[in-house]
Order: sequence, then structure tokens, then C-alpha cells
Amino acid sequence: MQAFTCPFCGHRDETEFHFVVEAGKPRPEPSEEVSDEKWAAYLHMGKAPKGEAREIWLHITCGLYFLMTRDTVTRDILSSECLLEASE
Ligand SMILES: [Zn+2]
Repeated sequence: MQAFTCPFCGHRDETEFHFVVEAGKPRPEPSEEVSDEKWAAYLHMGKAPKGEAREIWLHITCGLYFLMTRDTVTRDILSSECLLEASE
């Protein structure tokens, strides 16, 4: 088991969290002109970087969406930030 850190609740078991999306992934626009293939690629195709990854996660227990930076090789959590703080 791995522990993630919710910026509001602190360390919790990974089973309490849900991956949402890669951070900074541009949404295809305008939405009414986006093909099914481009939309499917946006939803399901990720970079899956080896090493540092910046991702949006949801802590299901408290409902907080936050930015987590983690190392996909070592599984270290480098930071967890509220989205409002991360955008400043
Ligand atoms: Zn939380």
C-alpha cells in the first residue's frame, strides 16, 4: 500500500484517492468541432512519463481536487497542493 497526502486531510491510504487527469493537459476546443477520435485521445491517452508527473487527483473522502507531483519510478510523492494555491 502507498500513502498519498491530501492537502486538507494529510496522509491517507491510496485507496481513498482517484486519479482525474494529467495537469496542464490542453482540452481540445472548440468542443462542438472536436472529432470523436480527438476527444477519445484527450480522455484516454496520457503521456505516462517515467519520473516526475504532475497530476490532478481527487480525495474521495473529503471531495478535494488537488495537484500532486509524484515520481512514477520511485513512487515518492514530491508535493500535494490545493489547486487554488498551485495556480497562483
Ligand atoms: Zn482530503
